[in-house]
Amino acid sequence: ATPTAIMVGTGRGARSGILVKSAEALQAAHDVKTVVLDKTGTITQGHPSVVSFMCAEGADERGLVASAAAVERYSEHPLAKALVDYAGEQEVAIPEAREFSQVEGGGVSAVVGSSRYMVGNARLMESCGVALDGFALMGERAADEGATPLFVAKDGSVVGMAAVADAVKPTSAQAVKALSAMGIATVMMTGDGERTALAVQKACPVDRVIAGVLPADKEREVACLAEGNPGTVAMVGDGINDAPALARADVGIAIGAGTDIAMDAADMVLMRSDLLDVARAIQLSRATMRIIK
Ligand code: ADP
Ligand code: MG
Repeated sequence: ATPTAIMVGTGRGARSGILVKSAEALQAAHDVKTVVLDKTGTITQGHPSVVSFMCAEGADERGLVASAAAVERYSEHPLAKALVDYAGEQEVAIPEAREFSQVEGGGVSAVVGSSRYMVGNARLMESCGVALDGFALMGERAADEGATPLFVAKDGSVVGMAAVADAVKPTSAQAVKALSAMGIATVMMTGDGERTALAVQKACPVDRVIAGVLPADKEREVACLAEGNPGTVAMVGDGINDAPALARADVGIAIGAGTDIAMDAADMVLMRSDLLDVARAIQLSRATMRIIK
């Protein structure tokens, strides 16, 4: 590889908002045959909001929203922010919570007043022996619309469910199609449930979906894809969760609007946070390698 070609390629990338951090990354990108895309904040906007809140008939809905928000106030997860914002919109006062705890890839729990509340996904509820009952079907319906169902349990029984939706970015589908046209396989990887991920796949037609991945397992999934497939693997992500997977991929690509930790771990940063720039970055690398050869 001639240093001049790399410099030209890096400069061209920078002018279109693609920051290339190393010569190796620019070279490795020409042979990418698999692109792994994180869902939340990468394919989607990353600003989820509560689209509906359900509870048992006759239950105190406002009280439940307040308690759920009280628990989520201690979490930094984007889903937590959605619930806290929803409580604000509904103008319910959020009480104090204590004994907060968080389960990675599951949800949160805390004591509000004299009850223990838990807010999280079906996996968390199951692992704590909490039956979803009638809320299971509501959760499936929300997931089929592409929303993330968050169940609210009080003292071991599910009493409510929030459907939290995050819109797909306007160019995500086009970007996936562009990558396909370049002969590249696309994979969505998410900690969210499979039903929600499959609904998002309808709006953004990735070749494959890997759902329900725990934060600690994202890196291993990338490693498996790298071993089992021809060419190199690129990983695109925005979150703290994604950092090890970004570092493990042949080409780690961070979303500019994402966390600093993701940007530090990546080889490239997309300043426009637009997935079309993933295709552009690979094209740039291919052009650079042609000059080199
Ligand atoms: P990702 O970043 O890929 O969406 P996470 O591991 O952060 O994955 O989250 C996976 C799932 O765990 C979420 O979709 C949600 O169901 C649940 N979860 C995580 N954190 C929270 C939280 N603070 N409140 C409720 N649910 C949560
Ligand atoms: Mg994300």
